[in-house]
Amino acid sequence: MIEDKNQQPTPLSELGEFGLIDHLTKQFDTKQESTVKGIGDDAAVLNFENKNTVVSTDLLIEGVHFDLSYMPLKHLGYKAIIVNLSDIYAMNAKATQVTVSIAVSSRFPLEALEELYEGIALASKIYNVDVVGGDTTSSTSGLIISVTAIGEISQNDEVLRNGAKPNDLLVVTGDLGAAYMGLQVLEREKEVFKVNPNNQPDLDTYTYIIERQLKPEARKDIITLFKDLDMKPSAMIDISDGLSSEILHICKQSGVGCDLYENKIPLDPQVISTCEEFNIDSTTVALNGGEDYELLFTISQHDYPKIKANPNFSVIGFIKEAQAGVHLVTRAETQIPLKAQGWKSFND
Ligand code: ADP
Ligand code: MG
Repeated sequence: MIEDKNQQPTPLSELGEFGLIDHLTKQFDTKQESTVKGIGDDAAVLNFENKNTVVSTDLLIEGVHFDLSYMPLKHLGYKAIIVNLSDIYAMNAKATQVTVSIAVSSRFPLEALEELYEGIALASKIYNVDVVGGDTTSSTSGLIISVTAIGEISQNDEVLRNGAKPNDLLVVTGDLGAAYMGLQVLEREKEVFKVNPNNQPDLDTYTYIIERQLKPEARKDIITLFKDLDMKPSAMIDISDGLSSEILHICKQSGVGCDLYENKIPLDPQVISTCEEFNIDSTTVALNGGEDYELLFTISQHDYPKIKANPNFSVIGFIKEAQAGVHLVTRAETQIPLKAQGWKSFND
């Protein structure tokens, strides 16, 4: 937080609960046709007419999902919205509203929450979603943010995890592993900083991967592209935990097997060089790193001509019958069974 040296941070107690809610939310107007009533009543009122409604929630806990020593609050607010919108897009839906609930300890002054809400407001503006409600409460330690994202989808247009068929192609957007490597760099710099606070890190060579960790984007553009191309994936999921566990989710729910080709996994050159520097295998990072917020989907081969020339897409695998199992086909052409190895909370 960049603070004016002459200005004392404002304790939250000075505003009271209602003053705080008012202060943080007065900036939100509503733009979506489906928003009948936004912030300010006991509940928001939404009207999706004949469309289906899509709803998804995520909870972010300080010390578990984010570390404020290298995550600026504005980025945290932005990311909290993005990770939820990503789930809506993974249904092939249009995101329309979010609600934002926060629990904060007295350690946070008003200015900190203003920064958090700057990021929330920026993401809602860029992704064109209305902030229509939330809840505000105190916490005994740290910051907790829960976002619920709401979206709409024409009936029968939703894409679930369970529709993959043998002979479909497995496709991923963008590139993988960057957010994880960005986190490795940030954690290393945090340790260096602890030893010598005067040591200003030179992070220029890591710009892309750090941005992927601190300011991820959700693939709204891909959902628009599917419409323009007049195509619908057979199954889809967003990559939050890592390619490996997302492939296993699709395969399990669709009752299919899969070959994933190691040499087809899209990696940014900065990921490759940082993996070399950290002496980590880049395939492992792409498989288990997570937080990429790219879309992973399957298409029938019939749709392949529609995507083949588009640099947003990489065909990385082939869907098989369930009894074939789920394998990584390595560069040396050996087959290794894929394991889910999410790096999150439970095995820490
Ligand atoms: P209630 O007592 O009915 O829970 P609140 O006083 O908590 O109502 O909230 C008043 C209004 O402000 C409601 O529309 C609520 O959805 C909204 N709101 C409360 N906290 C937040 C927040 N952190 N972000 C966005 N909207 C909020
Ligand atoms: Mg409330």
